Amino acid sequence: MKIIRAVNEMTAWAKSVRRSGKSLALVPTMGFFHEGHLRLMRLASQRADFVVVSLFVNPIQFGPQEDLSRYPRDFDRDAQLAQNEKIDVLFVPSVDEMYPADHQTEVQVRHLTAGLCGKSRPGHFNGVTTVVAKLFNIVLPHCAVFGEKDCQQLVVIRRMVRDLNYDIKIVAHPIVRDRDGLAMSSRNSYLSQAECQSALCLCRALQLARERVAAGVLDARQLIELVASHLSSYDHVTTEYISLVDQESLNEKDTVDEGSVLALAIRVGDTRLIDNGRLYEKM
Ligand code: AMP
Repeated sequence: MKIIRAVNEMTAWAKSVRRSGKSLALVPTMGFFHEGHLRLMRLASQRADFVVVSLFVNPIQFGPQEDLSRYPRDFDRDAQLAQNEKIDVLFVPSVDEMYPADHQTEVQVRHLTAGLCGKSRPGHFNGVTTVVAKLFNIVLPHCAVFGEKDCQQLVVIRRMVRDLNYDIKIVAHPIVRDRDGLAMSSRNSYLSQAECQSALCLCRALQLARERVAAGVLDARQLIELVASHLSSYDHVTTEYISLVDQESLNEKDTVDEGSVLALAIRVGDTRLIDNGRLYEKM
């Protein structure tokens, strides 16, 4: 596996792959790999001849009060895990390499970023779309793999790809969960043992909502009230939002249908966690 840190070297390598007629997949990450990241890498390997994984903790997608400085990092472990997955290139640019001092351009997707996580994290999605646009231009992939765990991010990236005419196929990977059902996340490493138990309220709430839907309850208000009271029954948990939205438009829905997703954001202690799921499916 090659480790590339310079933007021009990354692009030169990508161009040589493209010139040879081979296909290239990108998996953008912020590192501290868990099984979720590794599954995305495996899916990328199935979709293209060569796989680039980017590892970049993108400062501009963190708010001033957020966890940028303590975001978990372990480069040696990540490099070993990526190598085990037979990744071709681990692209690890520095902040200066990605954002030279005179950098002043941002990519913004407007309406889709207004609700859900965009409400409590102003500027977050501009940071995401800016870095992903740059990664697309630097790595020149034919396809890029993103997780459904960040469902709003996925919708926003798909929109950016359409609006900016990127010739890149966006591939979605389902949410990867641990044995107990907790959606894997680098931020789970912040949780104490007691908080880990409380964090299970997310997947249990989704399950509860699915059971109610299976029993015929399709009214969003009723389901949201049920989920709210479930979440509030756990220690250390404060709810940020509970929204039933259309999976493509992210518009709020009054009634569950096949295209609707229940999206949840909570804090467990100081740690912000998100989860989501379609309500017609089994977990
Ligand atoms: P991150 O390093 O947290 O920015 O995540 C990098 C990519 O992995 C994003 O596309 C995430 O949606 C995806 N991802 C993170 N956790 C999971 C998970 N538990 N299941 C599926 N995809 C995930």
